[in-house]
Order: sequence, then C-alpha cells, then structure tokens
Amino acid sequence: MRYVSTRGQAPIRDFSGVLLAGLAEDGGLYMPEQWPELSAADWRTLRGLPYPELAARVIAPFAEGAIDFETLRSMCHEAYAGFGHPAIVPLVQLDHELFAQELFHGPTLAFKDLAMQLLGRLFDHVLRQQDRRVTIVGATSGDTGSAAIEACRDRERLDVVILHPLGRTSEVQRRQMTTVRAANISNLAVEGTFDDCQDLVKAMFADAPFREDMQLSAVNSINWARVAAQIPYYVAAALALGAPDREIAFAVPTGNFGNVLAAWGARRMGLPITRLNVGSNHNDILARFLGANDMSVRGVTPSLSPSMDIQVSSNFERLLFELLGRDANACAAIMTGFRREGRMAVPDAVWRDATSLFHGLTLDDAHTTDEIRRLYGEAGYLADPHTAIGIAAARAGRIPGTPTVAMATAHPAKFPDAMRTAVGFAPDLPKHLADLYQRDERFRVVPNRLDAVEDAVRAAVLKNAA
Ligand SMILES: *Cc1c(COP(=O)(O)O)cnc(C)c1O
Repeated sequence: MRYVSTRGQAPIRDFSGVLLAGLAEDGGLYMPEQWPELSAADWRTLRGLPYPELAARVIAPFAEGAIDFETLRSMCHEAYAGFGHPAIVPLVQLDHELFAQELFHGPTLAFKDLAMQLLGRLFDHVLRQQDRRVTIVGATSGDTGSAAIEACRDRERLDVVILHPLGRTSEVQRRQMTTVRAANISNLAVEGTFDDCQDLVKAMFADAPFREDMQLSAVNSINWARVAAQIPYYVAAALALGAPDREIAFAVPTGNFGNVLAAWGARRMGLPITRLNVGSNHNDILARFLGANDMSVRGVTPSLSPSMDIQVSSNFERLLFELLGRDANACAAIMTGFRREGRMAVPDAVWRDATSLFHGLTLDDAHTTDEIRRLYGEAGYLADPHTAIGIAAARAGRIPGTPTVAMATAHPAKFPDAMRTAVGFAPDLPKHLADLYQRDERFRVVPNRLDAVEDAVRAAVLKNAA
C-alpha cells in the first residue's frame, strides 16, 4: 500500500515510511492511495474472530508491502494481551437499540491504548529493520502522553520525551505519566499551557539540525498508523450487531477527529454504516461546522472532558480531502486559508455531503453531568464525561430500526471529581493502578523556552545512549 499527502506535495511512502514520518513534509496528512474494499462475503468470514485476529486482518491491507502478515498478527496479539477484559472491546447494551463499546480496558484506561499499544511495537519492529533509533517527542493535555509512555516504555530503539503543562493536567493523568519507571521515558513539566507545549514540540520539529540530531518522531493522532489501528473495533462492533447484513450507526465523542475518522474508514471499506454522530463539549468547532458550515476557531476553555478541549480537529483534513474528490490542490488551499483566517471555507456542496452522514451534538458541562446521572439512574451504567457526551450524541441522532454504538472512550475512574459531582461517588481504579496515588513521581520542571526544552531532550537522549 502506498500513501499520498492530502496536500499533494510530499513524497509517496509505504506504511513504515508514514509510521516514522507522522506529518507529511508539505504540512499535509498521509492517506492510503487506495482504500481496501471488502465484499459482504469477505466481511462475513471475519465474524466471530478473537479481537487480535480481527485487528490483524483489518490492518493487513494497509501495511501490505511493509510488514508481513505473521509479524503483524503476533504484534496484534501482544498489543492486546495486557487488556483487562477478555473481549478487549466489549459491547454493553444500554437500551433496545443503543450500545456502548468500551475502549478503556487498556493499561491507561482510555481508547488511545488500542492504537498506541500496537504503534509502540510497530516502531520497534521497523526501527530494528532499519537499524535506527528515534526520539519520540509529544505534548499532552492528558490521555495521549500516558498512552504513548505505556506503549513505548522499555522499547529498545525509542526514547520518549513527553511535555505536559505544569499543574494543568488532572492528577490521575499526570501520575499515569510521571510514575512510570523506565530508562527511556522522560516527563517535562513546562511552565506554561498545553498550547505552549504544542508550540514547543512544533518548534523542535522546525529546528532542522536538532530534528536530525535527535532523530525526532511523533505518535500524535495525525499519525496514519493510529487511524488504521482504530478501524478494527468499528468492524468488531458492526459484525457483532449484524453487519454486513444490517445497517449500523456510531456515535463518537470527538476532539481531533481521529477516532471518528476511523469509523469513516470502516464505512469506506464497505461496511453499511449509515450515520456517524459526533459529540463535542462547549469547545464545539465540529458541531458548529456540521450545524451551519461554520468551522471557525474560538478560544479553548477547560471542560469536564479535557481530551476534547481543542480548537482545531487536525484529522478533519483527511475527510475534507476525500469529500473534495481527493483534489490535493483544493485541500491545500482550504487548509492554508484556514491557518491564515481562522475560518475554513468549505464549499457548500462538500458541507452538504458531510452532513448527510455526520450529525453533531454539543453538550456543555451541566448537561454532561445530567447525562452521567441519567445513565446511572436509568441503565445502571457509569460513563465518564467523554463517554457521556458520545452517548448523548447517539441518543440525539438515533435512527429507528438501526442499532447505534457509542464509543466509551475513557474509564470513569479517570475522572473522579466529575463522577462525584454527578453520582455522588467515584469508582475505584482497576487493580493495576490501585496504588497510583502512592507511587513516586518523576518529572523535570522546565521554563517555557525552546532552548531549555531542547537541552532537556538532549540530556534525556544522551543519558540512554551512554
Ligand atoms: C483523545 C480522546 C478523545 C478524542 O478523540 P479524537 O480521536 O481526538 O477525536 C475522546 N475521549 C477520550 C477519553 C480521549 O482520550
């Protein structure tokens, strides 16, 4: 499988190439040159497979020519072996036609483990093949950093440096990063905001000599391999509920648009997915786009669902590219206009096309709390704030006769304060994290300056090279 950039000016790469590159050189995102398509008969043969087997078969066409099937298959088995539920991604029925698919049984209790656990292994494999080492740098406001750290800890050919904003992540999220004891993991607490952290990461990538010297790489949600690794759970849910012989809808609480883009990918591969509901908190750029073709950037304010507190949904560019009939020039023009103006000029026909499949719902914090309380009262189900927004979007967009599956993206124990407010108690952390609050933390505080952060990254890498 070959990959092209959504902006048309970057080298064509294979799966290993896009894995290591992350962002394309022209500022675009990599997409498969051709989508694999499965017939109804093909889908039926996948029914009933254990999740790691299903994942290997769904991901295989994307990795073709770069990773052989047996290697991919054993990586999928290893990636999901440590999950806390034998079904890996269990479905829970909430009412007659509404289901939650729990994606939070991985080591860090959020859906990002599903892709990241595989990515850590893919990186190690490809770097061994190429006899290289890389330094993964990333900025996190919460779940991405811990998922990356858990997936990459103790991997031979990776150093990982994660920047988080000092004092601005939740305690559970911070501790999940700073209590990991592995020589190749470093945490930097930046005296600034999440946006400052992101800008510092971008500035490190833009510093060509430093980038080359440190062999920088990224595992953020624009990495194609993450999207590919998220497609299998949509396939698993759809097959379990009767696809390809029955239509299915999904609902996804959305920030960077990566998770729901994987649902779109499952549809593009041939599953009869008839609606994609996306839920936002009050940082609602996507819902405003779907409601009124208003994709304009406003300031981000903190919410109960911090992993969705963003103003630019990076992966939307991939959908835009497809809806523009893969016209990379048009896509590049719209995206540079968006950077410049803070408002995306999406052609009306494209917007209409998007709204025929995607429905948006915005839920503010008060209504999110109400939804958590209602779900617990009516269905006995404990949903974290992100999941509650997804379930509310599922209810708002339901199609009678079609089952809707809402993605449960985080374990409720990750957000104890929100749960106490909504239902009066906080669920316990699973056993493997039960002593999280007693573990020693390790992180280094750094000023919000590029030279200071680069020095800290260099020091972390040199320590391990020695
Ligand atoms: C990252 C995250 C999201 C948003 O996912 P995107 O792929 O960025 O849309 C939603 N919920 C949780 C719990 C997350 O960690």
